[in-house]
Amino acid sequence: MKASSHLFAALAAFTIAATAGCGGGGNTSDDASVHKMPTSDEAVSDGSGSLPDSATEDAVPPGSPSELDVAWMAETKDAVTVVNDFWQSRWDTYFTGTYEPPTVFGEYVAGTPDAPTCGGRPAVPNNAFYCPSGDYIAWDAQLMREGYAKGDSMVYLVIAHEWGHAVQHRVTGLTAEAPELQADCLAGATLFGSEELQFETGDTEELAQTLTDLADRTPWTESEDHGDAEERITAFNNGGSGGVDACLPR
Ligand SMILES: [Zn+2]
Repeated sequence: MKASSHLFAALAAFTIAATAGCGGGGNTSDDASVHKMPTSDEAVSDGSGSLPDSATEDAVPPGSPSELDVAWMAETKDAVTVVNDFWQSRWDTYFTGTYEPPTVFGEYVAGTPDAPTCGGRPAVPNNAFYCPSGDYIAWDAQLMREGYAKGDSMVYLVIAHEWGHAVQHRVTGLTAEAPELQADCLAGATLFGSEELQFETGDTEELAQTLTDLADRTPWTESEDHGDAEERITAFNNGGSGGVDACLPR
């Protein structure tokens, strides 16, 4: 998925399909091993010989980010811009008041002094979350790095989902009975509604795979249930096809 300031999303379809092995009978126990292997150059680790000319050693100097780290961190910045621009431009269509974006804390390494706390609780590994009391969004570096290595769409989905929680927090009466599925719906509305996103081949499959990977068995955000893979994909598709309106409580 690429952020573009001038290309409109050319979408052949507004829905994504469940990936094989997770959409049928609700048996998700055996698809944990179904992971696409990294196939892009982005997933190649350090020392591949494609370092900048200034690098004279085979290995990346200690403490320097790898090419993968540089890539996924750049993608998070693009995703923040895309998601924020969407809500900035659409806020008045759906809600009253002035749109204020949440603070973007960005990546953290759980257990380190720099990791954020929310309501006195330290940020945990493998999570991404919106903190209502601090009005900020943060994500575990390892979660994003590994997700990005499988497909860049993951970065957009996670940030759009957490931004959805920030929107829930801003609008009285917005939050649905299933806030996590509503956040998935809002993420779908954002990514498919953005005029800055250009979908690439494989993106919709990546999004389905990400929702599958991040379904209930992983501790993504807080303690609320995120729903199973099928529920999450359905919610995301509802937002993708119906826009923000489809995510609002009835
Ligand atoms: Zn959530």
